[in-house]
Amino acid sequence: MERLEKYEDWARACMHVRCGFCRENCPAYNQLKLDSYAAKGKMTILYHLLRGRLQLDEAIAERVFACTSCGLCDIACGYNQSEAIHEMKSVLYNQGVSLPEGYMKISTKTRDSGNPYSADSHEGATILQSFPEAKLDTADYTLFLGCTQIYREDNEVKSLLHILRAAGISFRLPTEQVCCGSPAYRVGDESQAREQAKKISDLFTRMKSDNILVSCAGCYRMLSNDHDILLNQESKFKIIHAMEFLQELGQNNKLKIRPLNATITYHDPCHLSRHSGIYEAPRQVLSAIPEVKLVEMEWNRKFAKCCGAGGGFRAGKPDDAVAVAAKRVREAEATGASILATACPFCLRNLRDGAESINSKIKVETVESIVARLV
Ligand code: SF4
Ligand code: SF4
Repeated sequence: MERLEKYEDWARACMHVRCGFCRENCPAYNQLKLDSYAAKGKMTILYHLLRGRLQLDEAIAERVFACTSCGLCDIACGYNQSEAIHEMKSVLYNQGVSLPEGYMKISTKTRDSGNPYSADSHEGATILQSFPEAKLDTADYTLFLGCTQIYREDNEVKSLLHILRAAGISFRLPTEQVCCGSPAYRVGDESQAREQAKKISDLFTRMKSDNILVSCAGCYRMLSNDHDILLNQESKFKIIHAMEFLQELGQNNKLKIRPLNATITYHDPCHLSRHSGIYEAPRQVLSAIPEVKLVEMEWNRKFAKCCGAGGGFRAGKPDDAVAVAAKRVREAEATGASILATACPFCLRNLRDGAESINSKIKVETVESIVARLV
C-alpha cells in the first residue's frame, strides 16, 4: 500500500471536484456505466484504501482491473490517473487478492508458457526459423515480432517482411520468440514482466543487436519505455517503431507504392499515440500512398478513443471489449471511409471483431498490410 501513498493528494483533489471530465470517453465507464469504473471512481477507491475505510478484495479488484490502460483520463484530467490505476493493479496482484479469471490467466499463461496465449514456445521458434532472415549472423536491424503477430496474425508478419525486403533493408530475426512482458505488466504482474524484460535484453545482447524494429504498439511501449523502469537502467538498444521507419523509407524514396483509390481513416493505438507520442508517422505513411484520401474520426490523435483491447480488458471482459471496439468502428464508418487502418496487431484483432459484431462493411487493416499490398 505504501507505493500508493504518493497519489493521495491527487485522489483527495479528485474527490473534491465535480468535473468528471475523465468519465465520458473512458471505455470502461462508457461501456459499464458505473462511476466506479471511471478514473474518478478508481481514485475514490484509492483514497479510501489509504484511509483504511476499504480493504483490498475481489470487488475492488473487479473495478480497478476494468481499465484498458488507454490513458484517456490523463488527457481529460491533467493528473496522470492511469499511472495510479496501474500501480493499484500491481498492489492488488502483489497482495495476492483473487483477480477476475481472465486477467489472472494472462499472468499464469505468461509464467507457465512464456507468452500470454499459452502457445508452445517451440512453435514460435519454428515459425521464426522458417524465415531466411533468422539464419543471418549480422544485419543493420533486428526485427522483433510480438506474440500476437507470431501466434495469431501471421499475415501481419508476412506483410512486414514483404515491405522490408522490397525496400532492400538489411534485417534479421531472432531464432526464439520471447514475450515483451506487456500483457503481464498491464495486469499487475511486474515480477514476470521484469523477467521478460531481462530475457529480451539478454536476447538482443546475444544477437549483438543495436537497432530494434518493432511494429506492435504494446511491444513498442514496453521496449522503449517500460523495460527501463522495470530494469532500473537506461536501455542500450535503439527501439524504432515500424511507422517511423516506413515514414523514413517513403521520404527516402525506398519504396515504390502503387496507387490505391480509397478513403482511409486511422485509429491511434493508445500505446503508440498517447503513451509514446507517435501520431503523425502513420498518417504520413498513408497520405503518401497515391490517390488515398485520409479522413479523421471525430476523436483522433491524443483524444482518440480506445479500441477496448488493452490492459487485459479483452481477456477480462471479452464481450465488453468487443462492444467498445464496435463503437469505435461506428465512428470510423461516420467518416465515410472504406478502410479503418491501425498500427497495432492487438487493436486490429479487437476492431475487426467489433466490425464483425455489427456487420460493418468497413475493412479493418494495419498500415503495414495496406502498404504491403501496394509494393
Ligand atoms: S479523475 Fe480528474 S477529471 Fe476525473 S473527476 Fe477526478 S479530477 Fe476530475
Ligand atoms: S486508463 Fe482508460 S480505461 Fe482506464 S480509467 Fe483511464 S480512461 Fe478509463
